[in-house]
Amino acid sequence: MMDIIATVDIGATKTTASLCTREGIIIRVYQKTKLEGPEDTIPRQVKELIDACFIRSGLGTEGLKAVGISTAGPFQKLDGYLHLVSPNICGGMAPERGILPNEWKLVPLERVLSDHYDNIVIQNDAVSGVVAESIFGSGKGLDNLLYATWSTGIGTGALVDGRLIKGKNGNAPHGGHVFLVDGGPRCGCGDDGHLEALSSGTAIARDYGGGASTAEVFGSYHKGDEKAIRIINEASRHFARGLASINNILDTEMIIIGGSVFLNNVDVLLPLVKEEFYRSFPTLSREVQIVPTTLGEHLGDLAALSLVIQNDWIDPWKIKRPWERAPETIVLD
Ligand SMILES: [Zn+2]
Repeated sequence: MMDIIATVDIGATKTTASLCTREGIIIRVYQKTKLEGPEDTIPRQVKELIDACFIRSGLGTEGLKAVGISTAGPFQKLDGYLHLVSPNICGGMAPERGILPNEWKLVPLERVLSDHYDNIVIQNDAVSGVVAESIFGSGKGLDNLLYATWSTGIGTGALVDGRLIKGKNGNAPHGGHVFLVDGGPRCGCGDDGHLEALSSGTAIARDYGGGASTAEVFGSYHKGDEKAIRIINEASRHFARGLASINNILDTEMIIIGGSVFLNNVDVLLPLVKEEFYRSFPTLSREVQIVPTTLGEHLGDLAALSLVIQNDWIDPWKIKRPWERAPETIVLD
């Protein structure tokens, strides 16, 4: 019987699930993250997506060895189970923002899924992202590596001296919620002036106003719209200062940046981030390389996989890079 690993990447916007074997990715499905309903809606959706992968691929569930879940964080441990307490998923954390269609204060992710699966590993998406980058990506072989995702929210994960840092609830280093501005805009976590509240895709759309999406603000930027230029310059400046602060604490070798806001606009954002980052204390900043992820849309799958990958899969996956020949993603309603 073939060993199978299920991977799940839960974002604030979409959730992706796949089934992998030693040879590669067998099937990959994608659905908008369900943010309405009771607080166990997301774990039930995860189970449904994994079920859909098995049904559509014809593989038998008896081969399933592990489920790796990479998700927007942070987490809180209650009764021994990791619960999601994510500002971009749980609308009950800062209801005055009025952005999310639910009043969840937390999501019982591990408690619900542990009824269905024996071997689950759940990790913050930026923390699992740095693991994937260190195995499969540009960070291969580096002992000091920072991964930052710039998307609906902002997250960071780090290897320091060759070790993944996690902290007591798996939240280290939670870079999106470092304080940058006194009395700044309200963050989804309920505090004011955090990096995420200043630079995330959500913040860029909020600052532009008029119901424009983040992508539309970048469209206006390219047309020379002064307001869009100012907002994107400021968001980049804050993002770079956040990274510089985290680097000042961790003394990293390379910062790899991913996330949809960054990757869709890398030509605009990378130079702005570099310019501001290298302006900070040169002794600490000048040797740090800043690069975009090369794992593209598969970073989330690889992040989830890297949490539970079997040792004898690592070399074949590194050599064959099967994610580059993954089957076309099936979009579910
Ligand atoms: Zn915050």
